[in-house]
Amino acid sequence: MSETYLPMGLPAPVPGRDGLELPFWEAAADGRLVAQRCTVCEGWQWGPEWMCHHCYSFEMTWAPPPGPARIFSWERSYYPVHPALGEHGPYIAVVIELADADGIRMVGNLLGDPDQDVVIGTEVAPVFEHRPASDGAPEHTLVQWAVS
Ligand SMILES: [Zn+2]
Repeated sequence: MSETYLPMGLPAPVPGRDGLELPFWEAAADGRLVAQRCTVCEGWQWGPEWMCHHCYSFEMTWAPPPGPARIFSWERSYYPVHPALGEHGPYIAVVIELADADGIRMVGNLLGDPDQDVVIGTEVAPVFEHRPASDGAPEHTLVQWAVS
C-alpha cells in the first residue's frame, strides 16, 4: 500500500501569498487540526478569512476546533480528474462537519478501503498525510479523514 492515499503528482495546496492560511498548514505539518476562531465573539469559521463572519471583527486567531467531526457529504470518484490520478481509483472525497464548532465544514479524502460503505453522520478523525516534495510541488501535509 502506498504511503499516500492518492498518487504523487497532484498539485500541492499551498498557503496563498497573503499568508492567511499559513497557520493551518503549519499546524497540519505538526499533526494538529486548527480552524479560525474570533477572539471577540468566539465564533468558528472555515475557510479562512480576514474578517469574522459572525461579528465582522478582524480579531481572528487559530485554535483546535471541538469535535466530533462527522461525515456531512461524500463522493466515490471512479474517473481521474487530474492526469496524475491515471488508473487510480476509486477514491472517496468527503465533506466533514464540526457541529460544535459552528458547523464548519472541511474537505478531504476518507482513508481506508475505497469501496467501503460510507454513512452520513459517521464520526471521523483527522489523519495528517505528509507528502514529500514531488514534481515541483513542495513538501506538504494534507488533512485527511478516517472513521474513528
Ligand atoms: Zn466574531
